[in-house]
Amino acid sequence: MNLFAVLDQTAARHGDRGAVYLGTRQVLTWRELRDRALRLAASLRAAHPAGTRVAVASENRPEIVELMFAAWAAECVVVPINYKLHELEIAQILDDAGAATVFASPKIAERLVGVAPVPVDVIADDAYAARLSSAPLAPPRETDPASLAWLFYTSGTTGRSKGAMLSHRNLMAMTVSHLADFDDPDENCSLVHGAPMSHGSGLYIAPYVLRGARQVVPASAAFEPDEFLDLCESHPGCSSFLAPTMVARLVATGRSRPANLRTVVYGGGPMYVDSLKKAMAAFGPIFVQLYGQGEAPMTITGLRRDDHEGADDAVLGSVGYPRSGVDVAVVGADGEPAAVGVIGEIVCRGDVVMSGYWNNAEATAATVRNGWLRTGDMGSFDERGYLTLRDRSKDVVISGGSNVYPREVEEVLITHPGVEEACVVGEPDEEWGEVVVAFVVGSADERELDAHLIERIARFKRPKRYEFVDELPKNSYGKVLRRALRDRLAHR
Ligand code: AMP
Repeated sequence: MNLFAVLDQTAARHGDRGAVYLGTRQVLTWRELRDRALRLAASLRAAHPAGTRVAVASENRPEIVELMFAAWAAECVVVPINYKLHELEIAQILDDAGAATVFASPKIAERLVGVAPVPVDVIADDAYAARLSSAPLAPPRETDPASLAWLFYTSGTTGRSKGAMLSHRNLMAMTVSHLADFDDPDENCSLVHGAPMSHGSGLYIAPYVLRGARQVVPASAAFEPDEFLDLCESHPGCSSFLAPTMVARLVATGRSRPANLRTVVYGGGPMYVDSLKKAMAAFGPIFVQLYGQGEAPMTITGLRRDDHEGADDAVLGSVGYPRSGVDVAVVGADGEPAAVGVIGEIVCRGDVVMSGYWNNAEATAATVRNGWLRTGDMGSFDERGYLTLRDRSKDVVISGGSNVYPREVEEVLITHPGVEEACVVGEPDEEWGEVVVAFVVGSADERELDAHLIERIARFKRPKRYEFVDELPKNSYGKVLRRALRDRLAHR
């Protein structure tokens, strides 16, 4: 099984229909996309054997779609690289992956001159055009489904970035689960790439191509809320994967739901209940939540569209229930399943789980045991089977021997009208071990927030201190960098 088959089949059924769009402009039909991918694949195979790692470092561009399918047709491995990383971080990934080449947009290629340890192929330059004049490769028919398709580098928040090895089978399991649980697109639908294609939005290309849904890349190559909403007026049946912070930016436009916006899958970081309710009030029942990680891409638990309707706060604040084809459990320190309501580490098993980390047997042994992926996330199941995430173990603040889960405090802070964003971390303290500190963006003052919290959560969970800031540090996927906030406190 090779993921190229999803394009092959769609090109056969819908050859003349639009496949790839830049903004509102059609760039390629399905037949053209298939043809270009096979020509690029031939140029890759002329120089490299199967299994070669081919990196892609680019802001969102239409060519990313053809490069993914080209690499798969050539039985090579895509190494998607977050283009917002520092050049030295990109170089480190290229080196670790042993990539043969990196396809970079002109903007990124410029930054990589003299730094990249491998040749840089500039997307859409003359050499790229020359590759497209190669005779097309025959589509692969005998690919082992266990062979690597996607080498996905983790954000490295806990140290050096590691490459999660994902096979054709892993991505097909993700695809099937997405179509079973979350969305039911067809050839009259569209996937709008709001989030970076080096991450979740790129992974979602497979299910939408399988169903013949258009691939729409915003002309700005970025996430501009108004542009995004305009595109969802112009293209039919739009779905998109967005980070929770992007959803909040859509809400902040004050606009109502574009007629053609059907599904927004949010996840990859916490969505606070209050923010979710505001989003549902603004746009209606279009939201789907996923909880996943690079090691089990987009697919551990989730909440479907219908699960959101009329749901209580416990459900809205949860990450839902296990996805189709995935076993999920919460285990204690002894590795045994924890009882309902008891917090432990979340583990999962299924065809979607990576085989391990690239060239890192030690990290693999610590993370995948007997087929179970240890997510490093803490959580608990309730009696109805909903899983609630309780922050990563390293983010829990232990103050005077009591555990304080930052998310719990943040959920309450965010309900105050004078708070736009909040992030809670622990600061080392001689007396308490750690004390709770809240970083807050907004107009509320300390006295108001304290009064707000005292009515809603236990006293020991209240921040000992507030830091009022203009913005929270975030990575390029919009995730708040707790470590940066902890460092800020430590360097005082
Ligand atoms: P990444 O591998 O970069 O996609 O990061 C995965 C991590 O993001 C997970 O291990 C969780 O800690 C967090 N995460 C993913 N989805 C959610 C979600 N729906 N709610 C809260 N945190 C999430």
